[in-house]
Amino acid sequence: MQATTVLYLVVAAAVLGGIRLLSSPHYARWGNGLAAVAILAAIVLVMAQHNLLTTSSVLTAIAVGSVGGAALAIQVKMIQMPQLVALLNGCGGAASMFIALAEASSPLASAVLWAATFAVTGLAVIVGSFTLSGSLVAAGKLHGVLNEKAIILPQHSWLTVVLMAGLAVYLVAGALSPITGIGTYSLILLPFSLALGVIVTVRIGGADMPVVITFLNAASGLAASLCGFVTENALLVACGAMVGASGVLLSHKMCRAMNRSLLTVFLGFERQSSQGQEQEVAALHSHGDVGGADPVGLSVELLRDAKDVIIVPGYGMAVSQAQFKIWELAQALEARGARVRFAIHPVAGRMPGHMNVLLAEAGVPYEKLFEMDAINEDFKRSDVGLVVGACDVVNPAAINVPGTPISGMPILKVYDSKHIIVCKRTKSPGYSGVENPLFYHDNAIFLAGDATCTMLSLIDGLSISKSDGENGDE
Ligand code: NAP
Repeated sequence: MQATTVLYLVVAAAVLGGIRLLSSPHYARWGNGLAAVAILAAIVLVMAQHNLLTTSSVLTAIAVGSVGGAALAIQVKMIQMPQLVALLNGCGGAASMFIALAEASSPLASAVLWAATFAVTGLAVIVGSFTLSGSLVAAGKLHGVLNEKAIILPQHSWLTVVLMAGLAVYLVAGALSPITGIGTYSLILLPFSLALGVIVTVRIGGADMPVVITFLNAASGLAASLCGFVTENALLVACGAMVGASGVLLSHKMCRAMNRSLLTVFLGFERQSSQGQEQEVAALHSHGDVGGADPVGLSVELLRDAKDVIIVPGYGMAVSQAQFKIWELAQALEARGARVRFAIHPVAGRMPGHMNVLLAEAGVPYEKLFEMDAINEDFKRSDVGLVVGACDVVNPAAINVPGTPISGMPILKVYDSKHIIVCKRTKSPGYSGVENPLFYHDNAIFLAGDATCTMLSLIDGLSISKSDGENGDE
């Protein structure tokens, strides 16, 4: 075996090891570092092997990329991470698109007549540019500069299908009997692929956004892998395939968590008719909340007596940066002898793993975090279900009301808890725009306000009732 092949295998194994380590919160930082070093080694290796650029230009490119990336990562707030991830997916797509176009327009490429080379290069251009434009639209929606809701153009599904079919036919026909050189062939594919990325992504909004992010992640990996074929680089094929495969697995997991399929998400089937759902949801508002004049005081009483508390964090926790105070409250409850666990819905927040990252940042041990399936049946045995800044992931309308943007999505069954405490600024709907009847349950207390401030009030209330108890004991 050649020395380069061995080095390629070592780098590929290091990337795989890095990804593996990411699955453990204790070693995730190491995994991230290992994968980053492996990718750097891959760049150096390929540059040295093919003698592609001068050392100084490679170093300059690495320095510019590193400084730009670091500046962006330092500046970005935790709640802006989803759009950063979408942008980085777009960068992956753009890199693949440019590499494929550069290969296709190189002087040597004009002599290429192989159908397979045409097809693979064309596919790399399609997937790379689709990923670029789709990711930019997704980032725009997540950042609020584009309409966050699904934008549906006239005959949108047909437009998507016709564009996809047209690209597929041209890809195959143009490769089998080329009437132009590979450079022109690739350039013709470019605008249509960019348009496809926009058309597919603009129609997705609301609760389906997590699937778009993971799908574009998979697409950026696939684009890189195809570029590996174009440039005949096995390392790029392997690393791209790993990213692509993990993106596909994550998309599958997200779809399963939302009871959706990729086809229904991308072609916009189901969940379209929300007509009449407002009335149906309103009909579920059978009772007012039971907070009375002093909802915080009542909540403190419930928490003080609770033996089993399940906390459900949502996007509002991220906005408020309430994870630190939530953990402080959990510790205060544990000190009083309660069992406290965190229930994590797979699409809680605005990106996969959002809640896990924030709670880990606050120091919550990973053993206290439970996935939906592992904890859902325990709500009925819990004394208090404490919802902090979550809405869609605990919305019973997903089960009870057909035709809403979240209908069919499995939810965390907080409604089963003996008592429910909801901490949120208002009773307005979450990301999907569907009203939440949980806030009106007859065993629910609604604590209106910023999540961090509410957590502070609860912590203060518990500490006062503790010192009262101690004084009473004296
Ligand atoms: P959600 O349904 O969007 O609800 C979050 C709630 O947080 C809002 O209703 C908001 O209500 C409240 N909030 C905002 N700022 C707050 C603050 N400072 N203090 C207290 N509350 C605050 O969130 P979720 O239950 O986590 O569900 C996630 C939703 O996002 C799902 O629909 C999911 O499909 C979608 N999504 C997820 C991802 C992903 O990958 N995880 C990506 C994109 C979209 P007020 O304004 O009334 O306070």
